[in-house]
Amino acid sequence: MTKEKKDGATPEEKRSLNFIEQIIESDIENNKNEGRVYTRFPPEPNGYLHIGHAKSICLNFGLANSYKGLCNLRFDDTNPVKEDVEYVDSIKEDVEWLGFKWNQEPRFASDYFEQFYTWAIKLIEDGKAYVCELSAEETGKYRGTPTRPGTESPFRNRAIEENLDLFERMKMGEFPDGAKILRAKIDMASPNMHLRDPAIYRIKHAHHHRTGDKWCIYPMYDFAHGLSDYIEKITHSVCTLEFEVHRPLYDWFIDQLITTDYRPQQIEFARLNMNYTVMSKRKLLQLVEEKLVSGWDDPRIPTISGLRRRGYTPASIRNFAERVGVAKRDNVIDLALLEYCIREDLNTTAKRRLGILRPLKVVITNYIEGREEFLDAVNNPEDETAGRRKVPFSRELYIEQGDFMENAPRKFFRLAPGREVRLRYAYFIKCEEVIKDENGNITELRCTYDPLSRGGKSPDGRKVKGTLHWVSARHAIDAEVRLYDRLFKDANPLGKKDGSDFKDFINENSLEVLTDCKLEPSLKEMKPDEKFQFERLGYFCLDTDSTEGKPVFNRTVTLRDSWAKMNKK
Ligand code: ATP
Ligand code: MG
Repeated sequence: MTKEKKDGATPEEKRSLNFIEQIIESDIENNKNEGRVYTRFPPEPNGYLHIGHAKSICLNFGLANSYKGLCNLRFDDTNPVKEDVEYVDSIKEDVEWLGFKWNQEPRFASDYFEQFYTWAIKLIEDGKAYVCELSAEETGKYRGTPTRPGTESPFRNRAIEENLDLFERMKMGEFPDGAKILRAKIDMASPNMHLRDPAIYRIKHAHHHRTGDKWCIYPMYDFAHGLSDYIEKITHSVCTLEFEVHRPLYDWFIDQLITTDYRPQQIEFARLNMNYTVMSKRKLLQLVEEKLVSGWDDPRIPTISGLRRRGYTPASIRNFAERVGVAKRDNVIDLALLEYCIREDLNTTAKRRLGILRPLKVVITNYIEGREEFLDAVNNPEDETAGRRKVPFSRELYIEQGDFMENAPRKFFRLAPGREVRLRYAYFIKCEEVIKDENGNITELRCTYDPLSRGGKSPDGRKVKGTLHWVSARHAIDAEVRLYDRLFKDANPLGKKDGSDFKDFINENSLEVLTDCKLEPSLKEMKPDEKFQFERLGYFCLDTDSTEGKPVFNRTVTLRDSWAKMNKK
């Protein structure tokens, strides 16, 4: 079976259905749930979303779009201690930014607290739940191990009346945190640990960001999740592989409480893992709280807000999610693939500009002082509709320090004493003299230009090997530019067996700040979210730290494509 990719994809881009699409198509064929497709994205508002969530968003909203279904945004806000409205707001912003629309208003598991409570009472009345007073430590001991059955709690066979009374008093706030829990009565000998009388409700005297102090008992994820799916009439509840072992429990609650034919189906897929980074919200929170990064939107971390600030586009992330695909087995994706996706996008959309990161002054001695001219430059060779612009040229210019070498080897095709290069869109210049300060540092180059080489064309067939980028000193804008490298030195900073911490692998050179950069003046007119290619240097975007007089740019990615290279071999 194949599926037409939307967005005018060519037939070559047809791909085979992934296993979730296969399930859905077969459900539609069998008219399961009257052929409805209804998914949800269910984040816990306890941190900012990351690229792994982006994959789940693209999958859930994408399935709804493909099959003319609906997708809910549901906040799984059952743990008041770690949750916050700041996170709720950032999550909404990120989903919208990625280009998706949830059905109606966002949902909250807390909207259903009353219904959950009623269902919990129903379980007690049916003899399928009990209030347990074992301590956390004892509960752990009673649970057994995967190979050894657990032991039944001494509170397991309490009378229904007593359970109802105790649960009511838990709700009324009579007991401190942790004194009692409500547990499902399933099977302490089950080979699946999750079925060994799992907790349904716990006591937490904590203020909830939506329900305030109304509740001091909160439902557990496993209880709330499937039932929320049921309430919202979700058909395909897509989640990550670690929930596979929870599925019998997901089904158990629904089996006990629901009598209709309709029931949501949980389907698991492999979570996205990427090398050279960390992706769990807990780890990201640690980096933020310990100020190892500048915040949740630090351009070095894989949060959606970090990627946005770094210059990633929604299209590049959606494309990444599509390329990664949907698998049933865990794997690790190379960070280079993500970079490939943004390069591919920006190559066709970003305007080319000239900018100098580490300036070296060049004086053209045979160019009349005070003269200026405006040279024709193309905005994007990949896109004719992007048009052209004028770049000012004058007697004093800047080139990149790295484009000059005093004692250059023969194969150095950039500027060196006595050698000639082309300045992009401008002229051939030849280095005649090197000026140094009293410490021997090069401060300036004296060059001559060939007036007949205007536009960078050879006047007489003589060839130059190198073409350099440059800016006119007098016209340039001053800017700060931030260059990034991977945040971790090790491909797998987590899960080391030697007891080391992931923070031990932080790359101390992951951020380089250049404060004396010179950019071509047309950048004055840029829009805040516009992206550019600075020729030979990479793709850049304006950072949120920019001020009126001093723009700050982030390098999104260099031009060097390691992904395409690796995959050509
Ligand atoms: P983390 O483990 O990073 O803290 P989480 O799973 O606790 O994330 P949730 O807010 O519970 O975060 O996740 C919301 C949804 O996003 C869930 O359906 C979850 O399965 C999915 N999700 C989370 N991380 C990934 C990932 N790395 N790849 C794909 N989907 C993910
Ligand atoms: Mg979670």
